[in-house]
Amino acid sequence: MVYEFVPLLAAAAGALLVLRPQSAVAAVREGVAEPDPAAGPAGGAPAAAQSPLSVDAQQLLDTSPDACVVISQEATVVWFNRAAREQMGAVRIGSPMAFARRVPELVRAIDKVRATGRPERARWSEKVPTRRWYEATVSPLTLSPPFAEPFPAMVVYIHDLSDQQRLERMREDFVANASHELRTPLASLTGMIETLQGPAREDAKTRDQFLGLMREQADRMKRLTDSLLSLSRIELRAHVHPTDVVDCAETVRSAVEMSRNVADEADVRLELALADETLPVHGDPDELLQVMNNLIENAVKYGGDGGRILVSARRDETMSGPVVALAVQDFGKGIPPEHVPRLTERFYRVDIEESRARRGTGLGLAIVKHIVNRHRGRLTVRSTIGTGSTFTVRLPLVTEEA
Ligand code: ADP
Repeated sequence: MVYEFVPLLAAAAGALLVLRPQSAVAAVREGVAEPDPAAGPAGGAPAAAQSPLSVDAQQLLDTSPDACVVISQEATVVWFNRAAREQMGAVRIGSPMAFARRVPELVRAIDKVRATGRPERARWSEKVPTRRWYEATVSPLTLSPPFAEPFPAMVVYIHDLSDQQRLERMREDFVANASHELRTPLASLTGMIETLQGPAREDAKTRDQFLGLMREQADRMKRLTDSLLSLSRIELRAHVHPTDVVDCAETVRSAVEMSRNVADEADVRLELALADETLPVHGDPDELLQVMNNLIENAVKYGGDGGRILVSARRDETMSGPVVALAVQDFGKGIPPEHVPRLTERFYRVDIEESRARRGTGLGLAIVKHIVNRHRGRLTVRSTIGTGSTFTVRLPLVTEEA
């Protein structure tokens, strides 16, 4: 995207690189004339009258989300756009570019363009105040008098790659995590098969014991692949908003019934608080059921020690209009606050061993978040150590006027 955008904008700016008459610029520089009012407000930070670019060019470049800095042959700043001012507080007309961006990679690229007259690219990352990644393109630019002397100048575009890099990191982490999660049960399966083929070949007791363990590992792999498939199916439809009308009261009732056995086995009382009315939303019934099942299952698994789970569904008013609020509250040990913002990340678990022991995959809440997003809803988590957690899903209510 960057590569397509930069040349396009640069070409357009080049076409608009119309200079004001030399005498007027010189007069303003010497302080004998007022800046040309016809030039309009300066688009970027520098005063319009001192800019080598026409007002149109400045306005065009000011729409760029990338920082754009025109520099002289000596690498001093001649003009910069709005994004540059936001990205580099220290950028000043007439001061060296290296003061605005103290980056060796960029300085080297500028030197190279000066020496060869050919465009260059530079990439770097910065750690302070937060980790960020940038890519700059430096291109030669021929200006008309008076700015042509002692130039030709250069134009530097700096694109912030941080969001892109973070997404790439997340994708890499996801593949690494998924492979790791599959490899662990696979390794134990292989180990047990080898034992049964070798030393324990004739040992009926070990064989029975191992077959049980192998079954558990195979189940674990199945749960993981089912969750991965479910996640990828939901992601594929992320931008398709459901149009069927679903009664959430029905969905919540079904989810509670489906979870009764699991709750009974864990000795947890499952309570249901439902308003006596329909709660229509635009939704996919299976996906909404999956959301409630995942939340109730988690409440039983991680908050079941409180002995009670309260599931509720009701209308609510928010700033963005009427919603249906579906809540699952447990009275268990709660979640330490530093973990709460990360719970919906794939494979994020507060305690990996506990999650494994309770047949977790670390994908349940990621699936919930994706489904809720697809339904234009919001998921909020409130938790207090020692008191318990409440997971609430808010979905836009279908009203009669809608
Ligand atoms: P898992 O498959 O491990 O259950 P989830 O994505 O569903 O994965 O949940 C991620 C983690 O969030 C869990 O491993 C657990 O540590 C924590 N968690 C989820 N729900 C609760 C809850 N109700 N109480 C305490 N911790 C919870």
